[in-house]
Amino acid sequence: MSVTMDTLVSLCKRRGFIFQSSEIYGGTGSCYDYGPLGVELKQNIKRLLWRDFVQSRADMVGIDASILMHPMVWKASGHLDHFTDPMVDCRDCKLRFRADHVDALPWTHYCPATKGNKFTIPAGEPCSHCGARRTLCPDCGKGELTAPRQFNLMFKTFMGPVEEDASVAYLRPETAQAMFVNFDNVLQSMRLKLPFGIAQAGRSFRNEITPGNFIFRTREFEQMEIEYFVNPRDAVDGRPADEHWHDRWIADCMAWFRRYGLREENLRLREHEKDELSHYSKRTVDIDYRFPIGWSELMGIANRTDFDLKQHSKFSGKSLTYFDEERKEHVVPYVIEPAMGVDRALLAFMADAYVEDEVRGEKRVVLRFHPELAPVKVAVLPLLKKREEIVRAAHAIRADLAKQWRVVYDDTAAIGRLYRRQDEVGTPYCVTVDVQTVGDSEKGETGDGKATIRDRDSMEQIRAPIDALPGLFHDLLSGGAWSQVAVRFPAAK
Ligand code: ATP
Repeated sequence: MSVTMDTLVSLCKRRGFIFQSSEIYGGTGSCYDYGPLGVELKQNIKRLLWRDFVQSRADMVGIDASILMHPMVWKASGHLDHFTDPMVDCRDCKLRFRADHVDALPWTHYCPATKGNKFTIPAGEPCSHCGARRTLCPDCGKGELTAPRQFNLMFKTFMGPVEEDASVAYLRPETAQAMFVNFDNVLQSMRLKLPFGIAQAGRSFRNEITPGNFIFRTREFEQMEIEYFVNPRDAVDGRPADEHWHDRWIADCMAWFRRYGLREENLRLREHEKDELSHYSKRTVDIDYRFPIGWSELMGIANRTDFDLKQHSKFSGKSLTYFDEERKEHVVPYVIEPAMGVDRALLAFMADAYVEDEVRGEKRVVLRFHPELAPVKVAVLPLLKKREEIVRAAHAIRADLAKQWRVVYDDTAAIGRLYRRQDEVGTPYCVTVDVQTVGDSEKGETGDGKATIRDRDSMEQIRAPIDALPGLFHDLLSGGAWSQVAVRFPAAK
């Protein structure tokens, strides 16, 4: 079953993942705020990207550059001249659309065959009553659309106290350029040898004409981009090094998404047609995901050739080359760029994790997040909140586990409901503390010092000593499968 966007939007708001920005003022168009669980999930995505693509690789380093860059950066990169989308306006209602998106929108139609009744007709389809196809504004259905005009997507602002042309600055529309302009700084300070890559994760801004579909297309978003520099003179397995590394990065990125839970049937590669390629690109391949809105780009992996380094060298007058010791010559490296949208990745992980199943005749909503992605790793739940020893023991377990992971305590409902709540936000494990754990001091009974651990996906339960919990969760949360780790302990009765 595939989840709808409306279901995700409502779950995100209800359970503290994502809120409309400035909601109490009516909201800011296409801007979103990550709530307490959303921020954990997003940070986990960024942490895993950084760990897997930067820290664990000998050929990668990272930077964190400022968002405001010298305006010449955007002249040299081509963004000032080319970072545009074709825009059309409705002459009647004045709404604006991206010309290439209009055909993909459902359209409003006042059908003459039904005395002018209003219908919303799916994108690309004719009216089933009169057979007409959309020629007018897809929103109001009344106005003619203007001819397309080019619209630059960069946000403009002013540096310093004077608002004049000389002080115009731009919010970066991508993180990539900082890696190019810092190429020589990084190369010299880190004494790197080709091939190597520089990564950066951070905010980008695009004044999108038609943002929408929740966090899929927003005007402020986070990217993680990698610029992987290779020597174009080198060959690997008989192929030019840039082509070899391009394929390697496509495979590595696909494997990364699969590793953290995206299902094979929801992923595909899409090769850009020649006429669709950006001005700098020799070849671009998108990883598409089957989002609730249909197949759409999750990330792009481009071979940007030596375009950017050459442009920045030309505009800055600084040499941006690499000295090839073997051939005793300076070369301008080629660059392979895996460019990922963190928010889009988050949306894909949520959509893929969403499952509705049935437990004892009741609907259960589960986000089957990979444990490393899950915003909360463990929830500690007291079975009886009136028993002081139980509550005390549960708080102590939470505090101990929270030294290493995001762990929550909840006693605000009966246990069945508490489990459902944790399932719905994707918490992989719950720990319950009961009378058996702590015993009954009034009756002189001591507890067994064990707690019940419940697995989100199988709903199986085991009983383990409290002091074994850190070790147990270490195994489970660092990739150990429940079926293998749980056998060390008896099933809970
Ligand atoms: P699109 O064709 O969807 O506009 P793009 O090809 O312009 O995207 P890139 O410039 O290749 O996108 O950016 C790399 C990645 O950054 C995209 O694959 C996407 O995940 C993310 N991204 C780009 N624009 C946005 C946006 N407006 N909102 C959220 N994420 C975005």
